[in-house]
Amino acid sequence: MAFPGILGHERALLRLREALNSDRLHHAYLLAGPEGVGKEKVALAFAKSLVCDTEERSSRPCGSCAACRKVEHGAHPDVILAMPQAEAVSRGLLSSSELDAAPSRELRVNDVRELERRVRLPPYEARHKVVILTPADKMNQSAQNALLKTLEEPPRATTLLLVTAAADMLLPTVRSRCARISFGPLPVDLVARELVRRNGGDQENAEVLAVLSGGSLGRALDLDGDAGEARRKLILDLRGLDPSDGGALVSFAEGFSGNRQAAENRLEVMSLWYRDVLAAASGASPSVMMNPDLAREIDADARRIPAEELVRRLEAIAGARRDIAGNVNARLVMEGLVAGFEGAG
Ligand SMILES: [Zn+2]
Repeated sequence: MAFPGILGHERALLRLREALNSDRLHHAYLLAGPEGVGKEKVALAFAKSLVCDTEERSSRPCGSCAACRKVEHGAHPDVILAMPQAEAVSRGLLSSSELDAAPSRELRVNDVRELERRVRLPPYEARHKVVILTPADKMNQSAQNALLKTLEEPPRATTLLLVTAAADMLLPTVRSRCARISFGPLPVDLVARELVRRNGGDQENAEVLAVLSGGSLGRALDLDGDAGEARRKLILDLRGLDPSDGGALVSFAEGFSGNRQAAENRLEVMSLWYRDVLAAASGASPSVMMNPDLAREIDADARRIPAEELVRRLEAIAGARRDIAGNVNARLVMEGLVAGFEGAG
């Protein structure tokens, strides 16, 4: 393993490991890839390696020296974590009572200027300074322009790590001055294994969540627990729905009216459900299903709902997702959607 405790991403880690061992470090790295796959964990492991006290380079980070432990506790003066105030508040690193105004959701030009000032000072304790910008795409335009100056005249013995799930939001000039380390989704079996290791529970459920998460351990952990049950409940509610019962439609649609992300997740569950039913209708084996725990229900619906109606529903769900992404009221979109389903659930 290139870095202790990091799952997957062998190629990305190998590149960072080679840079560390050869001491040919780039002054800035862009760690880009999907949400929840461990990019920030890698950034912290890399930062630890750069400040670790252990002599033997290939053994860094040792995880047990004072420097490693300080990074672990967010207390190393040469490892600077820069994030929007709102992010720091949600992680419990900052209290909103310490702020004069509502916490900012962006990294602003003054934040970057303050970073610039700090990186021009020599390291306090380590040989090296590390700045982790997370998520880097939260820098607004002028903050990014300010960062360009730092990227163009890199301070000595300093490494910048830009962590992002939305690299497109960064200026091309910022991106081009960083060495890009790309992260992909984690393999499904790895996510499933890690879910079982952390949360217990059965393998089958873990595999379903791993598939639904699209290879994001963070998302799978969010989906686990109550949410695994919530998926089943949503599908069973959907199957039991009578489109001619106005009251039932309204209360089903009500479940989508929270935040937009929650509505999108629920539509994703519905979409995967009808894809399973359609696959079963064309004779696919249950092993390729996204909802293997509901194999009996899939089979029943495949016999009950005509294939052309399934295709129509999948298209309608895709349309509903576009509407909700475009800020149309989720409850109204959902009422319209399910009212349009022909026959029961
Ligand atoms: Zn160490």
